[in-house]
Amino acid sequence: MNGTVYTAWLYFGRSAIKWGCRRLIIMMALFMSSCVTPPPRGPSPAPSPSPAQMPSPEPVSKAGDRFTFTIVYDNNEYDPGLETEWGFSCVIEGLEKTILFDTGGDHATLLSNMRKLKIDPGKIDVIVLSHIHGDHVGGLSGFLEENSDVTVYLPHSFPVSFKSMVREMGAEVAEISEAQQLFTGAFTTGELDGGIKEQSLIVATSRGPVIVTGCAHPGVVNIVRKARNIVAEDTVYLVMGGFHMAGAPASRIESVINGFRQLSVRKVAPCHCSGDETRRLFREEYGENYINSGVGKSIAIP
Ligand SMILES: [Zn+2]
Ligand SMILES: [Zn+2]
Repeated sequence: MNGTVYTAWLYFGRSAIKWGCRRLIIMMALFMSSCVTPPPRGPSPAPSPSPAQMPSPEPVSKAGDRFTFTIVYDNNEYDPGLETEWGFSCVIEGLEKTILFDTGGDHATLLSNMRKLKIDPGKIDVIVLSHIHGDHVGGLSGFLEENSDVTVYLPHSFPVSFKSMVREMGAEVAEISEAQQLFTGAFTTGELDGGIKEQSLIVATSRGPVIVTGCAHPGVVNIVRKARNIVAEDTVYLVMGGFHMAGAPASRIESVINGFRQLSVRKVAPCHCSGDETRRLFREEYGENYINSGVGKSIAIP
C-alpha cells in the first residue's frame, strides 16, 4: 500500500465522526489519491491473472438490442457545453438496469453534466466503482444525496468505513471479489491487483462485449484478456475508459496496441488517464475504429 492510499485509509477509519464532517474528510483524502498525481513513473505493473478465480465460461445472456455508453465525466473535452474535470464516469443504458460506472472526482460536475445530457440521476439503478481513487469515487456521496435507491458494486478491498458510509446514505452495498455476472448482460472482472485493486465492467451487447475500464491500474491488456475469458468470447467489440498510459513510452503503447490486436479488440475509445500520445497512436492504428471520446461522448450500439 502506498503512502497516499494509506493516508486515505487512516481518514476512512474515523467512523465515529458525524456524516457531514466525515464526508468532507473522505473527500479530502480521496483528492489526495487520484490516479495520476504524479504522472506514472513507467510501465504499469503487470500482475499475473488469477486463473483460480475464473468462473467456468458460460453462454452469455444479452439483455437488449440497443445500448448507449455516455461519458458524463472526463478530463478530455468532447462536448464543449459540459464541464471537463480530472476523473471518469460513464452511464450505460440498455440493460435491465441503468448503470453509473464510477462517479468522477466531484458530484457538482457529475450532476451538472448529467443534467445537461438529460440523464436523470433518479434513473440510475446500479453504481459500479472501479477503484478507490478520488477521481472515480469522489462524486459518490453527492450523487447518493440525489438518489440513494441504488446498489453500489464496489471492490471488497474498499475500507469498511467507506462501505458503512454508502449504507448509511441508504444505498445497498455489494462487495466484489471474484469475476461474476452482476445481472443479465453485465459482468465484472472481479478485483484485479495492479498495486491498486480495481474491477472493470463488461457489457454483453448485440455486437459483442464492451469493456469499460476506470483507470486500468492492473494493465489494460490483462483486463481485456481476463474479460474475454469471463464472457467466453473470441473478439471484443469495444474497450473504453482510462488505459492508464499517460506519459508511457511509445514502445509500451505499441505493445499494448499489439496486445489489443492479438485479443481481437475491434474498436477503442481511450480517454481519462490514457494520455494524448496513447490516443494518437491508437487513432493511427485503429483508423475508423478509433472512437474519439471525452465528456459528453455517447456511443450507441448498434
Ligand atoms: Zn486510479
Ligand atoms: Zn483515474
